[in-house]
Amino acid sequence: MTTQTNKEFWRDLKPIENIFMPDALPEVYIADAVTEDTRYHVPFTDTVFSRPLWISPNENRWCDILIANAPGLVNRHYHPHEVFAFTLSGKWAYLEHDWVATKGNFVYESPDEGHTLVAYESDEPMRVFFVVKGPLIWLDEEGEPEGYFDVHSYIAMCREHFAKNGIGADYVDTLF
Ligand code: FE
Repeated sequence: MTTQTNKEFWRDLKPIENIFMPDALPEVYIADAVTEDTRYHVPFTDTVFSRPLWISPNENRWCDILIANAPGLVNRHYHPHEVFAFTLSGKWAYLEHDWVATKGNFVYESPDEGHTLVAYESDEPMRVFFVVKGPLIWLDEEGEPEGYFDVHSYIAMCREHFAKNGIGADYVDTLF
């Protein structure tokens, strides 16, 4: 028979002493990941913003909170790589699928898929945690490529925004 108490039973465990391999990089800890400080909300489209959390230039990959405070759109694009999304609040979907994601919903988009992201009118603003591997290939109305957006575009977009609003372009480097 086991006895359960509220005691933190792991208190006597010792942390690993040498946690990093010689070339390992430190972790990133962001307490206010879903910040409502709009200076951290980088305009991505006319109606959708990105709060960057983690950026890997050499993997062409990034994590962010995708934000819409009203109905929003990220126009049609194609991903040669996978996308993960976890919905924190609000209501969003891709026009190409029949589901509508709300709080708690997880989405995995297989590589090689095109889609059009829309944020619905909702009681709560859209906040979605995304893991994206670049590039996104923007598509025209016929589905033909018309430019791309990758981690380097993302870095440049964030740096420009933070340089203008006083946080400083260097903030982006703390997320690498
Ligand atoms: Fe996408």
